[in-house]
Amino acid sequence: MNKVSIITGGARGIGAAIAHKLGTKGYSIVIADIDENAGQYRLNYLKNSGIDAIFIKTDVSSEHDVSNLMDKVYEKYGRIDVLVNNAGIGFSGRSIEEQTLEEWRRIIDTNLTGTWLCSKYAVKYMKNTGGVIINIASTRAFQSEPNTEPYSASKGGIIALTHALAVSLSKYNIRVISISPGWIDTSKWQVPPRTSNLSNLDHKQHLTKRVGLPEDIASLVSFLVSDEASWISGVNFTIDGGMTVKMIYID
Ligand code: NAD
Repeated sequence: MNKVSIITGGARGIGAAIAHKLGTKGYSIVIADIDENAGQYRLNYLKNSGIDAIFIKTDVSSEHDVSNLMDKVYEKYGRIDVLVNNAGIGFSGRSIEEQTLEEWRRIIDTNLTGTWLCSKYAVKYMKNTGGVIINIASTRAFQSEPNTEPYSASKGGIIALTHALAVSLSKYNIRVISISPGWIDTSKWQVPPRTSNLSNLDHKQHLTKRVGLPEDIASLVSFLVSDEASWISGVNFTIDGGMTVKMIYID
């Protein structure tokens, strides 16, 4: 019996690359995404790659959807080994004076409450076998440009939630880890895939001389869920090509 991994927001972008990577490592993959068309597209893509996968339409901010997701996965597979809380939405870029309460709530509900809800309902079954929860945060939790308040707060919350969950769930042999990606070019993993239009300057901002790819995040996830990472829990990994440590020097 394969181990089972649920990837929220796995229909496109970083989540899609994680789903593909874990699928190639022998996991049965559950794509939980709010977008039905993109979910079906990704399901076909994974199946054509020889990966055992299902798609369950889910809004991670809905308690009903999330509870139904975990029940359905357990009903089908009898286990939940890995949960990747990846579903997330970005910010409008409006100033704090122009941001609305509705916008704040939508971002917090999806990014932070969604991570909490999925963890809560996955634990119901994951505690039978132990497992790993990976929460996708962002470097925006600790490095900002103007006007990112709801998004930055949601991602900072995810890092703090990760610490608390790691402590609470250690008794079930569940490890909990957050990952903070920097700038990731997701064009190849969109539905349909796009051509990247990033400039040389975009790439030069990084010590590694390129922006990140979803595959970079997927490789880290693949390691962190493996037994080789069995001593790792309650920590945040920044993966950003060295972007956040690079000082902008203007003379
Ligand atoms: P994306 O927009 O390409 O994909 C996000 C997926 O999440 C989509 O398939 C979307 O349908 C799904 N989704 C949105 N709301 C949902 C909901 N309520 N319920 C279920 N699914 C939902 O985004 P991405 O760039 O791949 O980002 C993935 C994660 O990585 C997000 O949490 C994002 O904040 C984080 N992140 C991205 C970057 C980056 O540069 N791309 C950097 C740091 C962190």
